[in-house]
Amino acid sequence: MKYLDIETPSMNIQEVEDWSKEIWIIERQIFGIPVEKGLSCNLCNYSSRNQNFMKNHFSKSHRGSKWSDSTKECKVQKPFKGQFNKWIQVTNTEELNMESDQEEDWQSILKEDFKSPKARKFQRI
Ligand SMILES: [Zn+2]
Repeated sequence: MKYLDIETPSMNIQEVEDWSKEIWIIERQIFGIPVEKGLSCNLCNYSSRNQNFMKNHFSKSHRGSKWSDSTKECKVQKPFKGQFNKWIQVTNTEELNMESDQEEDWQSILKEDFKSPKARKFQRI
């Protein structure tokens, strides 16, 4: 689908439109879309990639409020292109914890080592 950066064949254009209108904040990052540093508005759910868009947003939506007082840094993703182009705030962007996987690998390596003839020989002695 030309509007999507990601492959989600289960969504049609209407669903993408609805989704992009309703969703401003997602809890988990969408896999395969780069997460970038952005800004989010404290007065509404708007988020954006840079200050210029935020200044523009404040002059349109929150006239009288200073944009720098009511924004915070956040992580953003832009899953859609074209007419649905919009930055979405990601609240949880923790990297996948690889430690447990590595541990598992170490265990299997140790087990393999133990099974090797050398290890058996050592055990016999
Ligand atoms: Zn706002």
